[in-house]
Amino acid sequence: MPRDNRFDILFEPVRIGPVTAPNRFYQVPHCSGMGYQLPSTLAAMRGIKAEGGWGVVNTEYCSIHPSSDDIPHPFASLWDEDDVRNMAAMADAVHAHGALAGTELWYGGMRASNHASREVALAPSSLPAMESPWQCARMDLDDIRQFRGWHRAAALRARQAGMDIVYVYAAHSYILGQFLDRDMNARGDAYGGTLMQRARLLREVLAETRDAIGDTCAVALRIEVDNEDGGGFAERSELLASLAPSVDLFDVTIADYSQEMGGSRFVKEASLETRIAHVRAITGKPVVSVGRFTSPETMLSQVKRGVVDLIGAARPSIADPFLPAKIAEGREDDIRECIGCNICYAHNSRGAAIRCTQNPTMGEEWRRGWHPEKIALAKTREQVLVVGAGPAGLEAGLMLARRGHEVKIADAGQSPGGRLQWETKLPGLAEWARVRDWRLHQISKLPNVEMFRDSRMGADDVIGLGIPHVVIATGSHWRTDGRGRSMHAAAASFDDPRTLAPERAAATQITGPAVVFDDDNYYLAAAIAEHVARAGVPVTYVTSEGKVAEWSVYTAEQPRTHARLLELGVTVIVNTLVAGLRPGSAVLRCVFSGAEREIAAETFIPVTSREGDDALYSALKGRGLATLSLIGDARAPGLIAHAVYAGHRLAREFGDGEAVARRERALIIP
Ligand code: ADP
Ligand code: SF4
Repeated sequence: MPRDNRFDILFEPVRIGPVTAPNRFYQVPHCSGMGYQLPSTLAAMRGIKAEGGWGVVNTEYCSIHPSSDDIPHPFASLWDEDDVRNMAAMADAVHAHGALAGTELWYGGMRASNHASREVALAPSSLPAMESPWQCARMDLDDIRQFRGWHRAAALRARQAGMDIVYVYAAHSYILGQFLDRDMNARGDAYGGTLMQRARLLREVLAETRDAIGDTCAVALRIEVDNEDGGGFAERSELLASLAPSVDLFDVTIADYSQEMGGSRFVKEASLETRIAHVRAITGKPVVSVGRFTSPETMLSQVKRGVVDLIGAARPSIADPFLPAKIAEGREDDIRECIGCNICYAHNSRGAAIRCTQNPTMGEEWRRGWHPEKIALAKTREQVLVVGAGPAGLEAGLMLARRGHEVKIADAGQSPGGRLQWETKLPGLAEWARVRDWRLHQISKLPNVEMFRDSRMGADDVIGLGIPHVVIATGSHWRTDGRGRSMHAAAASFDDPRTLAPERAAATQITGPAVVFDDDNYYLAAAIAEHVARAGVPVTYVTSEGKVAEWSVYTAEQPRTHARLLELGVTVIVNTLVAGLRPGSAVLRCVFSGAEREIAAETFIPVTSREGDDALYSALKGRGLATLSLIGDARAPGLIAHAVYAGHRLAREFGDGEAVARRERALIIP
C-alpha cells in the first residue's frame, strides 16, 4: 500500500549540526542488557532497527573510563581500541541501512558502585553509592581536570568507531546531572553555587566535545527540563537556552523516571509533552523526546505542532523495529504496539539481554538469527492443530501459518486471548490486550488459519480431527491451596468457601473484609487488591516480600504500585505469610520471627503459584500423532513474554528440529 501522504512529514530529513538524519524516527539511547559484553548481539539488534527504518540508532549508556562501571547492569564502554573495534560493528550495522549511529557517553559518578573495577567512584560530593553501603570520593580540581580529559578522549574514540552523534549525558542523575543538582553538589568552589555555576562542568564538557569532534559529529545533550525534585522549571529553561550554542540536538526528559519510563498501568502515550514543549522555542535547536509513541497520528501531531523535531523511541522500537517502515509502506495497522509492560527494562535490570513481550525476536537477532519480520517458509506444508488461543497459542498459530502451514486454532472460550481475557480488565492493564489484538488482526489477514471458538477439546476430539501435528497451549490456572514460593506444601485450611482464585476474584462481587496474599510478587495480586478496593471493599494486602509487588522493582512500576494501594486505603502488611484460615479470620505469620496474629477475612484471595493445564497433552501421548508439543503456561507458568516466546520458537523450529543458539562470550586470543 502506498504511504498516506499525511505522514510524509515524518520522513523528512532533519539536519543535526554537521550530520543529517534521513527521517524523524529516532531511537534514543536505551539500555539493552548487552553492552560491551555482547557486541555482536548488540550490533545485530541495532542493525535490525536501522533496517526497519529508524533514521538514528543509538547505543546504550557507554562508559568513558574504567573508573566508572555499572556492574551488574550491562553497560557499553569506549575505554580502549578494542572497545572501538567492537563498537564499530554496531555503527557499521546501522550505517548499512543508511541510518545515523550515535552513542551516549556515560560516567556514573556516585551512582556507580564500581563492583567490577573496585575503583573509588568520583562525584561532586562524597555520598553513598545508589545501591551500596559505601561512598564515592569528592572530586578535587585535579580529578575534574582528569575527568574532562577522559570524556574528550572517549568522544574521539566514539568518532573513530564511526559514530555520527555523540551525547553529553547530563540526565538521569549521572555525574553531570549530579553537578547540576543542588543537593548532590554541595561544593563551595567554582563548580558549585547557583544552577548556572553548577553547570560549569557541563559547559566545559560540551565545549571540549565540540572542539574534539564537533566538525564531523553532532553533539547531543540529554538533559532534564526540571530539577531532581521536579521543580526549578524556569531556571532550567534559562540554563537550556544558555547551553544552546554548544548543542546540536536537545534530547529532553524530566527528572521523574517513573513517568519517563512509566509502565502503561500508570502513564499513557506522549506524557512528557506538556513539560518539554517549550524547549524548541527557547533553544532554537532540534529537539527529540520520548513518549512511548506507537500511534502514527500522535507522532504526526507532535511534529506538526512543533513539540519535537524527532520522534524519540526506545520501547516502541523494541516492540516493533519496523515501525517506521510500516508507516512508510502504508501498513500502520501492522505496527506491533508496545504494551508498556517494561519487561524489556526488567531484564536489563537483572543483568540479562533485553527481551520483549510483544516482539519475541528482540535480543535473538544474532543468537538465533531471528528477524522480526521474516520467517522461513516450511519445506513441506503440514496441517497443524493448536489447542488454546492465549498468547502462546496465538503466536504459534500465526507464525506457523506465516511459514505456510495449514493451521487450526481451537479454544474453549467464547473469545480468544486466554489469560489476557480477564487480566486486561483489571485496573490499568487494558493496553496489555495489544498482545492478543495484534495477533488476531494478523491472523485475520491469512487464508490458511482457522479459528474455532467455544471448542473445548478432549483427547478423542483431537484424534477425531485427524490432524497429524498438535500443539497444546492450554495455559494454566492459579492454585488456591497456598503452594508457591514460600510454602511448598498445601495449607489444608485454605480449602474453604471464602477462598477465591484470582480468576474468580476478578469477575465476582467480593464481600469484605478481603485479604489478598501475594507470594507471586509481580503485578497480579496488587492489581486484584486495587480492583477489590475500587469496588469499595476493605482490603488487606499481605506480601511475603518487603514491598508491594516486589518484582516490579525491575519493571520500574513498584513505587507507583505501592503508592496506588496506599492511596486507595488498602492496608499493606509486608514480610508476612497467610499461614492458614480460621473461622472469620486469616492467620498471619511473620517471615522472620514466625510470630502469628489474626485479621478478619470474609474473602481470601491467594496469589501464590499456578498449575499448568497439561491434562490434554498427557492424554494425547502415545495416541499416534506425528508430533505433539506442549508450550506456554501449560508447560511452565510464566510471564506473557515467556508464552509468546514459546509459541514463536515452536513455529520457527517446527519440522526443522531444535536449533542451536550461538553463544557470545569473551574468548582467549591465542
Ligand atoms: P498461555 O499464556 O500459555 O498462552 P493462557 O492461559 O493465556 O495460556 O491461554 C490458554 C487458553 O487455552 C485459554 O484461552 C483456554 O480457554 C484454552 N484452553 C484450555 N484448555 C483447553 C481445551 N481443552 N480445549 C480448548 N481450549 C483450551
Ligand atoms: Fe514494550 Fe513491554 Fe516490549 Fe518493553 S517489553 S518494548 S514495554 S511491549
